[in-house]
This record gives sequence, structure tokens and C-alpha cells, in this order.
Amino acid sequence: MALALRCPAAASWQARRSRCPLCTATPTGGVSLMVAASGQGEAADLYMCSYLACPPYVRDKREAGVGARLHESLTLEEKIQRTVADLAAFITEVTA
Ligand SMILES: [Zn+2]
Repeated sequence: MALALRCPAAASWQARRSRCPLCTATPTGGVSLMVAASGQGEAADLYMCSYLACPPYVRDKREAGVGARLHESLTLEEKIQRTVADLAAFITEVTA
């Protein structure tokens, strides 16, 4: 099953200072609307960090923005698992 992640037309590349639902950071590069399409042409979209930049935010390897982070009581491992689960759910939605 091939899955293509792409960004819509350049005009839709809005570098918005929004919170990424995957890693809860408010990245300086903004979040972008990613569109995933499987071979059947089914598509789903998801806002996430531009350039798929989530991992270093989840792992606190990169500054998440001033006051950007939600205060969470989750451990690092739990945050990573949640991010992976959210992404997996998104992919499942496309490829189901
Ligand atoms: Zn992110």
C-alpha cells in the first residue's frame, strides 16, 4: 500500500503559528496542512509541524516556542507513544 504525503498547492502552505496536534509544540516554522493519499485516491488531511518536524519537539531536542508547550504530566515515552498513535490513526484513516 503506497501512501503519499504531500502538501497542497503552495498557496495553502500557511506557516501558521498554531499548535501542532501531534507534538503539542507551536513551532517557529508553523504548522502545515499535510494531505495523504493512498493508491485509491482516498485522502485525509492533518495539520502538523511543517516539514514533519515533530520528533525533536516531542523529545525536547528543539525549543517548542515561547510558552508553547502544554503542561503535560506525560512521560517522554508516553508522549512519543501518543504521537506515534496519532500518526498511525491518521494513516489508517487514509489506507482503510
Ligand atoms: Zn508537531
